[in-house]
Amino acid sequence: RLITLEGGEGVGKSTQARLLCDWLSGQGTSAVATREPGGTPGAEAIRGLLLGGSEDRWSVTTEALLVAAARSDHVERLIRPALAAGKWVICDRFLDSTLAYQGGEGGLSDDVLLNLHDIASGGLRPDLTLVLTLDAEESARRAAARDGGRPDRFGARDAAFHRRIDAAFQARLKAEPVRCRQVDASGSAEEVTGRIRALVAPLLQ
Ligand code: C5P
Repeated sequence: RLITLEGGEGVGKSTQARLLCDWLSGQGTSAVATREPGGTPGAEAIRGLLLGGSEDRWSVTTEALLVAAARSDHVERLIRPALAAGKWVICDRFLDSTLAYQGGEGGLSDDVLLNLHDIASGGLRPDLTLVLTLDAEESARRAAARDGGRPDRFGARDAAFHRRIDAAFQARLKAEPVRCRQVDASGSAEEVTGRIRALVAPLLQ
């Protein structure tokens, strides 16, 4: 099974990906946690290109192609082999981040982005997508605290940016209400984990 965690900056996706993976392992389910852009050495190198420079280093089309190239490597070399070995894959960001950042924010159409995704992934869709949502101001505060070391890319991002990304994820929840489920990301990591387990548990049966 492929489960993806999505949402804006600072909502706690990577912590929750790790906690979910640990919990699944405790249930006797072999699981691996990974992330995008990245997850394999080649895709992590592309992540460095994507996030390394200033915000306007790439046009949105180039950015979408780089994200797709990273996804192609990640899917071919990590995700598909893990799924074929019967493992669960928990991925921090995937298709819906592309639709939110390069689509909702960047302006590329869903059609173009879905075509690129299908080329990159061979048409792979998550079994379940958990969209973590947080009040935009709180999410900007958490992201600013975390991104202290990377001011040139993230310094220009204000609460308005976070609100636009949040709106794009809300649109994803509306567009695919079966695959995409909303998770309230407020409260402690333990509280959020509990909400996530309740949504994942039915897949274990
Ligand atoms: O949440 P994480 O630290 O993995 O995200 C890193 C950055 O990658 C995000 O701030 C986002 O701007 C960017 N990103 C993107 N397009 C994607 C996925 C991530 O611009 N499709």
